[in-house]
Amino acid sequence: MKIIDILKKKRTVSFEFFPPKKEEGESVLFETIEKLKGYDPDFVSVTYGAGGGTRDKTIEWTRSTHIDYGLEAMMHLTCIAATRESIAGIVRQIREIDIENVLALRGDIPLDVPPELCSKVFRNASDLIPYLKEQADLCIGVACYPEGHLETRDIDKEIEHLKLKESLGADFAITQLFFTNDYFYRFMERVRAAGIKMPVIAGIMPITNIKQVMRFTQMCGVEVPKHIIERMENAEEKDMFEIGVDYAAKQSSDLWEQGVEGLHFYTLNRSGATEEVLGRVF
Ligand code: FAD
Repeated sequence: MKIIDILKKKRTVSFEFFPPKKEEGESVLFETIEKLKGYDPDFVSVTYGAGGGTRDKTIEWTRSTHIDYGLEAMMHLTCIAATRESIAGIVRQIREIDIENVLALRGDIPLDVPPELCSKVFRNASDLIPYLKEQADLCIGVACYPEGHLETRDIDKEIEHLKLKESLGADFAITQLFFTNDYFYRFMERVRAAGIKMPVIAGIMPITNIKQVMRFTQMCGVEVPKHIIERMENAEEKDMFEIGVDYAAKQSSDLWEQGVEGLHFYTLNRSGATEEVLGRVF
């Protein structure tokens, strides 16, 4: 089923996974999916390496969550190091396994890919969307950034680019993770004022250790409130889980009460924190 058709009927709860590199990681992910399946997610999604290195694994995990576990599944697909042929081939493959949902992304320009190998055809996600639509009847999600993207800190520009993605056929958007709901609410006011109509799902990551917090802040230009950093820095290892889960649960409850169109949990392939948050929110 297309995610946009689910979103027309209800507000969604979804989970994101990444394809593990090692066998131990695979058993952990199987266990995680098994547990989170019990929460009856509206869909799950599987990330894709920006350089295309996870292609087969991403397709396989998307297939497995959809066919073996019976969950609605979305494949992430980046285009920065892709060709028209490689994208067309992937679309053929996923249609054969009944996948109708794709998160169309540019991807971060990988450090190990020389500039000359970056696509001249797909410079932005907005170049990928029409090409995907030409290939098959797909439901297309896109990324958006309530605090701005690292390359475009200007929110007006960011919204202009989101509007372009919608005009080219994007059906819905999922936000970058954020920790300050006010940034999301202000972003949404501007999104709607700009005439963007598609549903926007909020990306939530329950943070359960301080190193993770610092890494993510730097990687994606997301602000982590000082009070969380301070609490975590002063906490014992065992208390960090509770601090992170408590924060994410309060954040998610507030978003849900304010009518957010969906909550998308960046699970990092572990079920514990997400389960705890869901238990407190619903
Ligand atoms: P774009 O929409 O192309 O935007 C990139 C930058 O260019 C932004 O600054 C934007 O404002 C600007 N821009 C956009 N369109 C234009 C235009 N037409 N002209 C000029 N400038 C433009 N990365 C992965 O590698 N794999 C994943 O699976 C993955 N999943 C993600 C899931 C979500 C929900 C989110 C929010 C991000 C995800 N990312 C993933 C990270 C993402 O690939 C990076 O943030 C990347 O830098 C931008 O991707 P994009 O699709 O938003 O790019």
